[in-house]
Amino acid sequence: MNEAATPDPNNFNQIIDGKQVNLYILTNKNRLKAAITNYGGKLVSLLVPDSSGKLTDVVLGYNSLKDYQQYTKNGAYFGALIGRYGNRIAKGKFSLDGEQYELAINNGPNALHGGLKGFNSVVWDVVNTTPNSIELHYLAKDGEEGFPGNLNVTVTYTLTGDNALEIAYQATTDKTTVLNLTNHSYFNLNGEGSGTINDHTLQLNATEFTPVDATLIPTGKLEPVAGTPLDFTIPEKIGSRIEDKNQQMVYGKGYDHNYVLNAGKEKGQHLAAIVLGDKSSIEMQVYTDQPGIQFYSGNFMEGGDTGKSGHAYESRTAFCLETQHFPDSPNQPQFPTTALKPGETFNSVTFYKFSVKK
Ligand code: BGC
Repeated sequence: MNEAATPDPNNFNQIIDGKQVNLYILTNKNRLKAAITNYGGKLVSLLVPDSSGKLTDVVLGYNSLKDYQQYTKNGAYFGALIGRYGNRIAKGKFSLDGEQYELAINNGPNALHGGLKGFNSVVWDVVNTTPNSIELHYLAKDGEEGFPGNLNVTVTYTLTGDNALEIAYQATTDKTTVLNLTNHSYFNLNGEGSGTINDHTLQLNATEFTPVDATLIPTGKLEPVAGTPLDFTIPEKIGSRIEDKNQQMVYGKGYDHNYVLNAGKEKGQHLAAIVLGDKSSIEMQVYTDQPGIQFYSGNFMEGGDTGKSGHAYESRTAFCLETQHFPDSPNQPQFPTTALKPGETFNSVTFYKFSVKK
């Protein structure tokens, strides 16, 4: 493949919901380049040098805003900021402070990724930009998508000097609410559109996961990964056990599970995952302070959409590592709480750090 480039910003210059949308380019001193649009706060491209120094675009995405609006299945979430509640809430129902709340059902019998118009399809305000950072803000109104409380969310993307994409989240509310924020980038470390991720090697610092039912809602238990195809405590190819008939793998149609990070209860950012692209030798390390990470192996991708370099995005041609709280936490009191109260500030930082493995 030729050296990758960032999409043309002109294809992102549009007014949506009365607000100006644009594409913003961040760079660092080592030639890393990220393109971010304030429509859904999406990471549109992320160029990283491979083992030969060639810039490789390691995230899936489209060349124009029109494509992001047209391809509404997986594509709606490519690179996006997810909220107010990322991942699933069983039957779209929960109660908080004695009140019952009902959300739209948009994934089987459940609510997924913040609803019909989640944070991935709203226009974020651009608060500040520097050559290597962009600060975005969104006010999710009380009652929006069924959630309580006016929620002020600020997300800052920064390309750091040590080749990480840092994503810093901050939120406050005026009424008790629930919150699960993440970024939903679809990675292929060999380059987007370059084939499956089955030969990528993955390591996850998680000895337990939250097993799910057939609709991908956690049963509420934490179970050890040991002895199952979900065990990535030692580096392993993503594809080596992906067709296993283990019940969890059948439910997920591959990997679509929340891992309980070993360092979850400790303060600060910890190494959660390491992934290596077999062809590019690009390695990505994920650091987070969140208790969990959803590993999704792109099982529901269908190839009906064409990405930035003109390739159809077929099944399992990308993986996601969504740093997060556990799915359905509002209905699972034994999980770390996702409630945010007035007067509190939610703060969280995740890093996706890149290098070339010699
Ligand atoms: C979910 C998948 C879903 C995907 C959509 C993931 O977070 O776990 O089941 O298909 O998001 O992008």
